[in-house]
Amino acid sequence: MTPQEPDPGGHHGGTVGNSQAVVVDVRGLVKSYQGTPAVRGIDLRIRQGEVFALLGPNGAGKTTTVEILEGYLTRDSGEVTVLGVDPGRQRAQLKSRTGIVLQSTGIDRYLTVRETIAMYATFYPHPRPVDEVIGLVGLEEKRGARVGRLSGGQQRRLDVAIALVGNPELLFLDEPTTGFDPSARHEAWDVIKNLATLGMTVLLTTHYMDEAQFLADRLAVIAAGRIVAEGTPATLGGRQLATARIRYRPPAGAIPPDGLCAPPGPDGYTEITPDDVVQALHQLTGWAIDHGDSLEGLQVTRPSLEDIYLSLTGPPSAGGSQAALAGKRKGRTA
Ligand code: ATP
Repeated sequence: MTPQEPDPGGHHGGTVGNSQAVVVDVRGLVKSYQGTPAVRGIDLRIRQGEVFALLGPNGAGKTTTVEILEGYLTRDSGEVTVLGVDPGRQRAQLKSRTGIVLQSTGIDRYLTVRETIAMYATFYPHPRPVDEVIGLVGLEEKRGARVGRLSGGQQRRLDVAIALVGNPELLFLDEPTTGFDPSARHEAWDVIKNLATLGMTVLLTTHYMDEAQFLADRLAVIAAGRIVAEGTPATLGGRQLATARIRYRPPAGAIPPDGLCAPPGPDGYTEITPDDVVQALHQLTGWAIDHGDSLEGLQVTRPSLEDIYLSLTGPPSAGGSQAALAGKRKGRTA
């Protein structure tokens, strides 16, 4: 079994068959708010060194789950172990061993980046060297800049730096790139990948499928308080088994062989889902060469992670835009 595969065995609570320590172990987690269920029996296991992504529509229960793991919320029932301790009862023991990326709105705008990180380093028993943290988040050129002068993306890097300086074993990243421009997002992904190579365990929540695809070793989709699918980005919801589709624009006046043609859709493309895609492609391209046609726009596609996600969670809900999500956890700042 690879470190990425779920362990079908029993509850070990420590080291499991593949020798990767279980960092987060959740069994039958339940939480309601004023009698309304938000989390309805979640099982989750995350191993050391994994980047694990939690996906799900607005209101699915992701933040509730994560805040229970962080020790900020109490659960109604279920077993939860984070780094071997119960966050509901021993939160103080977890504080120096976990990093939580909050929004840096509470930071003194007149301190420099380096001064800020150095100040936070004093709160921890075994901090990571300040300049190393600055390098990890790629803020070397801004180390002497005042916090108030940083761009939004740079401030988010500082948030990550603050979460890292305590040298955490487990890092919680809640929607780390919401509101970023595309280049800032890719830079942030590089930072997160960098952390994963250091062996840190990362629990990430995100609404971006490309982010989950790029960063996550494993992911789980939560819908209405339950995990509806779990796997790797390549295998979630049986994605690897999904039939490939062949799309092409049929040449005018020529009819491809039986089994390879279908009435074109509104965009003029024919789409087929053959049992044997290699064989079908061979036949189709052979036929096209014989007829001197280039099969304009020929594509072979499998469902994207987003297609799978939507099939698991239903059509997107009207509520909650990305912009609205950017303001989450307003009450909890660094
Ligand atoms: P999003 O993607 O929008 O952040 P989420 O998956 O993080 O959503 P949660 O924030 O965990 O979802 O919310 C789960 C459910 O619990 C929602 O129906 C939400 O309205 C409700 N809820 C969350 N916090 C509270 C609270 N403090 N009081 C009452 N209900 C709450």
